[in-house]
Amino acid sequence: MSSEKPHLNLVIIGHVDHGKSTLTGHLLFLTGHVDERKIRELEELAKKTGKEFAKWAWILDTYKEERERDMTIDLSFFKFETKKYFFTLIDCPGHRDFVKNMVTGASQADCAILVVSAKQGEYEAGTSLAGQTREHIFLAKTMGINQIVVAINKMDTVNWSQERYEEVKQGVSKLLKMVGYKVDKIHFVPVSAYYGDNLVKPSPNMPWYKGPTLIEALDTFEPPPRPVDKPLRIPIQDVYSITGVGTVPVGRVETGVLKVGDTVVFMPPNKKGEVKSIETHHVRIEKALPGDNIGFNVKGIARAELRRGDVCGHPTSPPTVAEEFTARIIILYHPTAIGAGYTPVLHIHTATVPVRFAELIKKLDTRTGATIEEHPSYLKTGEAAIVKLKPLKPVVVEKYSDFPPLGRFAIRDSGRTIAAGVVIDVKPAKIGK
Ligand code: GDP
Repeated sequence: MSSEKPHLNLVIIGHVDHGKSTLTGHLLFLTGHVDERKIRELEELAKKTGKEFAKWAWILDTYKEERERDMTIDLSFFKFETKKYFFTLIDCPGHRDFVKNMVTGASQADCAILVVSAKQGEYEAGTSLAGQTREHIFLAKTMGINQIVVAINKMDTVNWSQERYEEVKQGVSKLLKMVGYKVDKIHFVPVSAYYGDNLVKPSPNMPWYKGPTLIEALDTFEPPPRPVDKPLRIPIQDVYSITGVGTVPVGRVETGVLKVGDTVVFMPPNKKGEVKSIETHHVRIEKALPGDNIGFNVKGIARAELRRGDVCGHPTSPPTVAEEFTARIIILYHPTAIGAGYTPVLHIHTATVPVRFAELIKKLDTRTGATIEEHPSYLKTGEAAIVKLKPLKPVVVEKYSDFPPLGRFAIRDSGRTIAAGVVIDVKPAKIGK
């Protein structure tokens, strides 16, 4: 399936229970990626267990099991095609760690479907101060996802009401605008993920809606730029040891080009090896470009020497391990206030490490970016700031201006996203030979 169509990485985001799994499962079915027999099986099971609404969401579970049985290189992704694009669904909803993974998954996504339920009470919960509709919009923007389609879901529960659609559209537009999305370029598609309205075919239940179906809206996305001229960076997602092949790291090429025969280095472990082969979606390729999700066999490194969160590059321009870095952040949520010394968890590309707020340098006006206060003693929800952060374990951090996907991050604590930001400057760590 390594088609000639351009490749886009997609994430499905939105508040819990707004229908992300249902929409994903149904979309995979309608685009021909699940067979009728499987669906009938799931329908039977759903009837028997009295959980009829669950059949679409179960598609995701079934796929996951199949993938786990499949011992070939697992990229952990779902795929589907539209007229114009080849979509890779990264980090499917329904995974146990979805919210956590949203942070790292989103760092690799080119685009997103934001699912917002129109059902009475649900839309309101999602957009409340603690709601995930709000949280995910904020994260998506910070993580550099510039293209987004909003699926206003469960229209069947509100009588296919145009009025309710407009209300939800306006509310969500406001949140999108607040973080800097250009709302006039965003499609808001009223759908029923369960019944399939407006997913692929225009819905007879909503004749008042004249816009594109969800799948047509996905085709209005633009392919992102692919920085082939920059040094190579591949954040590692997983490392496999495959019998008869050897060590196989898996990840997405963010910048640069990887070729068979290249000598590569993995940071922070500082291990070098030679690339013997490269695969994408089970197809062998000679070179991998930005945006390609690959598994590659490296000679000279044992599986145990590498881990998720390491970054692969060429020895001529190795990934930067940070001693400290300066960043611009926005506090999304903190129950009290953040002072120097606070030690939450940094999520950057595929890495997760503890990080300490070493210094609060200045507080900024969120709208203009102007300095409001030098060396503030604490930061609160909604405030923006420039801070110095110190990772407590070795981790690769790059300047956002050099390598955007490796220079934006989220900060989490006790299962909540506290802040997100971009890296302005990095003080490299000394790496022993
Ligand atoms: P997720 O947590 O966002 O992945 O949400 P799910 O896909 O698991 O859906 C949550 C609940 O909403 C389930 O009971 C679904 O059957 C139900 N649901 C999802 N989409 C629709 C829809 O279009 N209409 C109705 N009536 N229910 C839906």
